[in-house]
Amino acid sequence: MEQTLSIIKPDGVGRALIGEVIKRFEANDIKIVAMKMVHMSKQQAEGFYAVHRERPFFNSLTDFMCSGPAVVMVLEGENVIARNRDLMGATNYEEAAAGTIRKDFATSIERNIVHGSDAPETAAFEIGYFFNAFEIMS
Ligand code: ATP
Ligand code: MG
Repeated sequence: MEQTLSIIKPDGVGRALIGEVIKRFEANDIKIVAMKMVHMSKQQAEGFYAVHRERPFFNSLTDFMCSGPAVVMVLEGENVIARNRDLMGATNYEEAAAGTIRKDFATSIERNIVHGSDAPETAAFEIGYFFNAFEIMS
C-alpha cells in the first residue's frame, strides 16, 4: 500500500472544483486518509516547491500557490503515486490526455488545478510537510 500527497491548488478551490476532484479519487478506488485546507504563506510555498527554485517560473508559481486556500490530502492505494498522476494528466494541460483533471479544468500550464507527488521519496517529504502521524488515518 502506497501513499501520495495531493493538493487541490488555489485555482481548483476558487473555481469550486473540490468535489469534482475528490469524486474522481473515490471513483477510482483511491482512499483519502488525511485532508485539510491550508492558505500557504509565500515562504511555505517556496519550501514546498524548493526543487524548482532555479526555474524561471518559481516566483510566479509560489505567488499562485499562496494566492488563496488549497486543499491538501494524503491519498492511499496500490500504486497510488502513478495512478494519481494518471488521473491528473500532463503538467501542460494542452498535452494532457482526454478525461484527465488537468485536461478538463486547467487554464494554463501554471494554473493546473492539482498537484501530485511524483515518486516515493517526494511523497514522503511532501506528506511530512503538511501532516504529522496523528493526522493520517491508518
Ligand atoms: P506538480 O508538481 O504541481 O504536481 P508537475 O509535477 O506536473 O506538477 P512540475 O514540473 O513539478 O510539474 O511543476 C510544478 C508546477 O509548476 C506545475 O504543476 C505548474 O503549476 C508549474 N509549472 C511547471 N512548468 C511551468 C512553466 N513552464 N510555466 C509556468 N508554470 C509552470
Ligand atoms: Mg512536480
